[in-house]
Amino acid sequence: MAEVLCVCETRGGELKRVSMEVCTAGAAAAGGGGISAAIVGIGAAKFAPQLAPYGARKVYAAEWPEGAPWSNLKAVRALKAAVDATKPDLVLFPATATGRDLAPRLAARIGAGYAADCTGISRTSDGFLFERPVYGGRAVAFLAPAAPGPVVASLRPNVVSPSPAPSPGAAEAVPVPATDDDSDLRAMLKRFAASPAKRPELTEAAIVVAGGRGVGSAEKFKAIEDLADAMGAAVGASRAAVDEGYAPQSAQVGQTGKTVNPTLYIACGISGAIQHLAGMRTSKILVAINRDPNAPIFKIADYGIVGDIFEIVPLLASEIRKARGG
Ligand SMILES: Cc1cc2nc3c(=O)[nH]c(=O)nc-3n(C[C@H](O)[C@H](O)[C@H](O)COP(=O)(O)OP(=O)(O)OC[C@H]3O[C@@H](n4cnc5c(N)ncnc54)[C@H](O)[C@@H]3O)c2cc1C
Repeated sequence: MAEVLCVCETRGGELKRVSMEVCTAGAAAAGGGGISAAIVGIGAAKFAPQLAPYGARKVYAAEWPEGAPWSNLKAVRALKAAVDATKPDLVLFPATATGRDLAPRLAARIGAGYAADCTGISRTSDGFLFERPVYGGRAVAFLAPAAPGPVVASLRPNVVSPSPAPSPGAAEAVPVPATDDDSDLRAMLKRFAASPAKRPELTEAAIVVAGGRGVGSAEKFKAIEDLADAMGAAVGASRAAVDEGYAPQSAQVGQTGKTVNPTLYIACGISGAIQHLAGMRTSKILVAINRDPNAPIFKIADYGIVGDIFEIVPLLASEIRKARGG
């Protein structure tokens, strides 16, 4: 049995899905031990009850003053206070932009080993074993802590589906200070500019419309974006589409891109290479549009449309708008 501290994130006044994911993975890794959670943010304590179903006994809440500039250096101090209170065997972060910054800082502060960007965590008789793709996803490394003591890890979003713990926790909110001391700060976030696109976040979207090399150009990629907008979906891309400059790197789905887990994934002009499937194969329903009837993606698609994306995608967008009365 182990004690696990799960670091949760909020955005726009809501708990991010990755928070439930780390709690689910943390509860499994605890092997019957307990989990606690930590949140640093505006109104942190109010999120505590939402973590009860995932087994959080206590939620260490560091209230961030509204309007105060964000600083990862300050946030890590608050997390250190939560670590001091819980003495965890494992501190688990989501491998988001913030988590990837905070986790190694905390590991350095508490003298712990760090397993970054894991896709799985298991327990052996010797302790934790962390699974992590390496060499661009060509091999999987299994990492074990080399010395006793706490270990810090980050878990990729969407590799675990949030599921309630066998017995809920009390999720008692425990305040921890978010210190005001700015004396040793080297960097501070001055402004957060949300992406101008009003689309959902790719890793959290219920629907993803993705384009591949078959789209042919950045100009033509607008047809993919238009279908996504008609459906309220996020836009994804294959690595080939990103390498060709049709879509930004932030849209890349796959082994060396993002992992998505939507209800519906529409792959347009994507052949279905194993590295692409690695990032989207857990999608509930996969629709593939490809003019090659032998494209490998049809082997795993729930629905396949053999045809030209430039005939099918605009037609779909227009029919969906009509059906929605738009
Ligand atoms: C280490 C490593 C890591 C990688 N990581 C990733 C990753 O994270 N994500 C990723 O996606 N790839 C990754 N790749 C690359 C991957 O192997 C493939 O090369 C890539 O996924 C292919 O992208 P694609 O399907 O868009 O292009 P292609 O394989 O070229 O397929 C294009 C498809 O479009 C179809 N098409 C063309 N025109 C039309 C049209 N008008 N209408 C309908 N269909 C049309 C074609 O029939 C074809 O099936 C990685 C590769 C390596 C070696």
